[in-house]
Amino acid sequence: MKFRYLGTAAAEGFPGMFCVCDACKRARIAGGRNIRGRSQAIIDGKLLIDFPADTCMRVLNGTLDLPAIHDCIITHRHSDHLYAPDLEMRKKGMCKADGEVFRIYASRPASDIIKETMDIYDLYEVVELHAIKPFDVFTVAGEYKVTALPASHDPKVIPDGGRAVFYIIEKDGKRILYAHDTGYFPEETWKFLEENRPYFSLASLDCTGGPLPLRVNHMGLAACKEVTDRLKACGCFDGSTRVIINHFSHNGGLIHDELVPVAAEYGFEVSYDGFELTV
Ligand SMILES: [Zn+2]
Ligand SMILES: [Zn+2]
Ligand SMILES: [Zn+2]
Repeated sequence: MKFRYLGTAAAEGFPGMFCVCDACKRARIAGGRNIRGRSQAIIDGKLLIDFPADTCMRVLNGTLDLPAIHDCIITHRHSDHLYAPDLEMRKKGMCKADGEVFRIYASRPASDIIKETMDIYDLYEVVELHAIKPFDVFTVAGEYKVTALPASHDPKVIPDGGRAVFYIIEKDGKRILYAHDTGYFPEETWKFLEENRPYFSLASLDCTGGPLPLRVNHMGLAACKEVTDRLKACGCFDGSTRVIINHFSHNGGLIHDELVPVAAEYGFEVSYDGFELTV
């Protein structure tokens, strides 16, 4: 699988939209990999992960061929991962799409937001919503086996089990763990991982806080190390697993260039917008 980060910041963007902190000032001056948009990634140019408002800018600047994409999995309802009103732009009269629907997979409450948007703009001809639940295993684009795991993020939990999720994505015997947004994983997720022991070639871990000791809702470097150690102990990671930290907030205080040597001490690579690798 060819995995590409499209956006690697937390919700504020990095530099933050309205922010004049020292890290944001340094990021603006340094430019390049130090400038991060909101969370999004794509696999093989066809399986999109998350749909933030920044999706539009990626289409405009040529980094995302959205008309060619028909499948999108959503982690959760926060606006840096889901900006549902832009689905209207696929409506007939607003767009000449290729006739294939845009399939979007999300757990509640994110799927409720998408459904409400589909109701408002009457998108049922062009968007197909698949409401999933934590621990669902489903096939996307006919070739990717996707497993939704409960995240420790967003306190809203729906009585039917709906909540924020993150994903295992599997194809041709290779597995990617895309763990955003989440704090240290919930025990029910650990139970699944420790019972099933899926081996990951690549893991993208929430490291919103960078050097800050975040462990609930989001993680920092120390919690990412804890997760990595536990995944190694159960055989899900080994020395060949590429562990990439991602989803950074300016509140962590380190711009990309400053974070790279700190992360290297933990054995982690640092994401940046446009970072592409093959597993
Ligand atoms: Zn986020
Ligand atoms: Zn800032
Ligand atoms: Zn979030």
